[in-house]
Amino acid sequence: MVMYERFRVSLIPALLALVGCALPGGPAAEDGPILIDGGTVVAMDQAGTVLEGGAVLVEGDRIAAVLAPGEPRPEGTRLIDATGHLVIPGLVNTHGHAAMSLLRGLADDLPLMTWLNDYIFPAEAALVAPDFVYWGTLLSSVEMLKGGTTTFADMYYFRDDMARATIDAGIRSVTGPHVIGFPTPDFASPEESLANAAEFMERYRGHPTVVPAVAAHALYTTPLDAVEAAFRLAEQYDAPFQIHTVEDPSEDVTAREQTGMGVVEALESIGALRPGTVLAHSIYMSDEDLARVAAGGAGIAHNPQSNMKLGVPRAAPVAAALAAGIPVGIGTDGPASNNDLDMFDEMDAAAKVQKFMLGDPAALPAETVFRMATMGGARVLNLHDEIGSLEAGKRADIVLLDTRRPGLTPLYRVYSHLVYAARGSDVTTVLVNGRIVVRDREILTVDEDEVMERARGFGDRVREVMAGVGEEGDAR
Ligand SMILES: [Zn+2]
Repeated sequence: MVMYERFRVSLIPALLALVGCALPGGPAAEDGPILIDGGTVVAMDQAGTVLEGGAVLVEGDRIAAVLAPGEPRPEGTRLIDATGHLVIPGLVNTHGHAAMSLLRGLADDLPLMTWLNDYIFPAEAALVAPDFVYWGTLLSSVEMLKGGTTTFADMYYFRDDMARATIDAGIRSVTGPHVIGFPTPDFASPEESLANAAEFMERYRGHPTVVPAVAAHALYTTPLDAVEAAFRLAEQYDAPFQIHTVEDPSEDVTAREQTGMGVVEALESIGALRPGTVLAHSIYMSDEDLARVAAGGAGIAHNPQSNMKLGVPRAAPVAAALAAGIPVGIGTDGPASNNDLDMFDEMDAAAKVQKFMLGDPAALPAETVFRMATMGGARVLNLHDEIGSLEAGKRADIVLLDTRRPGLTPLYRVYSHLVYAARGSDVTTVLVNGRIVVRDREILTVDEDEVMERARGFGDRVREVMAGVGEEGDAR
């Protein structure tokens, strides 16, 4: 998604902005405790505990205990047999634009400007509305849940419809008000977007699965005073704050022209580099920038596949950021620019692109990458006390992954398989907030056939719009 955003800066006032925000929602716990027993528990706690033949006890929306192989099991539980499975914390996708799944594959392999102006903008201008956002977000939520992602952070339009979709799907989401320096499908200006934004933050405060958050698109699209106003709202609610940051070297040039400071320095000047601030991409960060981020406590959402697909000729300095103590998570970015939401695939890319860039096979070992996709992402979103690991007291966001597959047999080291060999399609069962939302590879919360039928319907409408653009020559 990064791409189109840049375009707008220069071209688009007339076209709609694409990136907005949205939100998550949540399910409630089911009746009675659940015991997930017989698998290999990969806890991702501080000690990196791995328990072959361990168990996880879920009571309500929380993990009540993680049990070693010989420990007595409680009576009266509903058993989930995890034999042959890895039992892992739900994956945390720290950056994306879920509703754009309805535009996935509309156009690829094009210069950003062409992609945006000839395809994405016309389609968005004609179609982005509450129903588009609802069904697109639902489609992505189903894809993510079935692939082992239990929490995602999102920026798009029509935040209420997005939140509703994530609640219906039963996925945990981090989303909410969004500002950008030009008209969007839902609001005419940043001021208008923020005018009733507190109401959204209030409504979802304490929600079991929707984590209200505030986003500003980027400094190259949004004036610093609007970015600051958005950040202040996040600060007021102690909520996550999301912003695209130095995905392209031109961003620092633009920021210096407009504010006299580079992007990261400008964010520091308004106090925005605090824990819970999510700096998406962060490719062109200098050592000074990394020091500022480390001092402030903000985190980085690393989106390696989106960056590579855009032809960005370097990778985000992830190894250096981790060495500096900066929280780093992994994100897929929007499904129109990746083009999938598979966090296993993204982990694989994150590990390899760093090794490739640094010429060092020891850079970002598998366990480090898996930690980024779980506890690291949780820390980036400032949710590390609630999610990201399998520990007593945390929310029960749990994924079972079947290793009895040709591509995962035999298994020597769990992190190696999780990062380099597993895919989302190996996931069989998923719990979010103590609720079983995927069982035996089937989504239990929504009618998947209906979701796809609706998605095909939007596909037909996109085709009509694109045909109209062709006839009119320049309908953008
Ligand atoms: Zn993005």
